[in-house]
Amino acid sequence: MPIPPYFSAQDGALTIAGHKAEHWVELAGDTPVFVYDKNIIAARIKALRTALGDGVELHYAIKANPMPAVVEYIADLVDGLDVASAGELEIARATSCKAEHISFAGPAKRDRELEAAVRAGIVINIESEGEYDRLLKIAQALACSVRAAVRVNPSFEVRASGMKMGGGAKAFGIDAARVPALLARWDSGLLHFEGFQIFSGSQNLSADALIEAQEKTLALAAELAAYAPSPVRALNIGGGFGIAYFPNDTALDLEKLGTALADLLARRDPVLAHSRIIVELGRYIVGEAGVYLTRIVDQKISHGEKFLLVDGGLHHQLAASGNFGTVIRRNYPLANASRFTAPADETVNIVGCLCTPLDRLADKIAFPASQVGDLVAIFMAGAYGRTASPEAFLGHPPPKELLVG
Ligand SMILES: *Cc1c(COP(=O)(O)O)cnc(C)c1O
Repeated sequence: MPIPPYFSAQDGALTIAGHKAEHWVELAGDTPVFVYDKNIIAARIKALRTALGDGVELHYAIKANPMPAVVEYIADLVDGLDVASAGELEIARATSCKAEHISFAGPAKRDRELEAAVRAGIVINIESEGEYDRLLKIAQALACSVRAAVRVNPSFEVRASGMKMGGGAKAFGIDAARVPALLARWDSGLLHFEGFQIFSGSQNLSADALIEAQEKTLALAAELAAYAPSPVRALNIGGGFGIAYFPNDTALDLEKLGTALADLLARRDPVLAHSRIIVELGRYIVGEAGVYLTRIVDQKISHGEKFLLVDGGLHHQLAASGNFGTVIRRNYPLANASRFTAPADETVNIVGCLCTPLDRLADKIAFPASQVGDLVAIFMAGAYGRTASPEAFLGHPPPKELLVG
């Protein structure tokens, strides 16, 4: 089980940001609790800055972890925030981030969400021809100018992506082939053409695949720029940088990616020479920084297998149960936080408190001999944890969340 190397132990117990897991539970008042470590977030951002260099702006996609304290913390360290709803827009607006550095992408934006975005003065990524028409009407009704970009559904797919969000028939963005016609009827009176957003996938660990996607993205943007009503001010090339969750995963080679991107930008088409280049990331910035702590409530034997039953579950950590964007269920890295250094000499299943066989947090893993009352830590829980889980299912209380460090 690959426990991220930046966690250590004290008196045999797991420490997070220098304190024992039990300390954070006490501070939060209860289990389960998500603990997010600022130091890990800051280190991730620093590594990204170093690899991507000055020529690339870094945005945080809030949907990966919208806890207001987390977003506020990250807002001071990045160049912009990406939101996917009016609710996330509210969170972004409460931070230091300036409106013109907030962008809004997402399918099925309601009129009132578009209106809120127009009033806020943020960049709106248009995802369909119908959305363009509605946005223009709203801008006219409010007599307000709008910064608008076109989200493009590229004709290529990105190899090795955990979740594909571009290529083929998709709900996201406007098909590349349809974009010229939209740009031809663009009303520049109220809609200030900002540029393009081309986001094509998520959770990708292959630098080569990402480099190939970035090359195709720049080529596509240059091609479409010829139809644009004005120069491309900003080109959002997406992100999709993955993190290594499982034993056979190899971490993304950030340095290789950064070098290739710098080279690509140096020889970009002159039509994009003055475009700001934006990379937007969620998971890569926060994923490794979170630990989900849940307490063992019961243990039992069934048909010879040992089960540890905890007070958390898929209602907070759907991804760890293998039911969020994974094809084959694999165990997330997890440990007994109370006996972090004890030898793993038992084989156990760890299940959550929901009445469904889907609520399995670990399947036949090697684990120390454990007791009721021990804390179990699930690592890599900083992204798509609470926010991507069916919290209302079974009526258990919401998890606690702490930003520490
Ligand atoms: C979800 C999403 C992201 C963030 O993806 P990660 O894999 O978490 O980095 C970025 N941009 C858009 C448009 C998204 O929908």
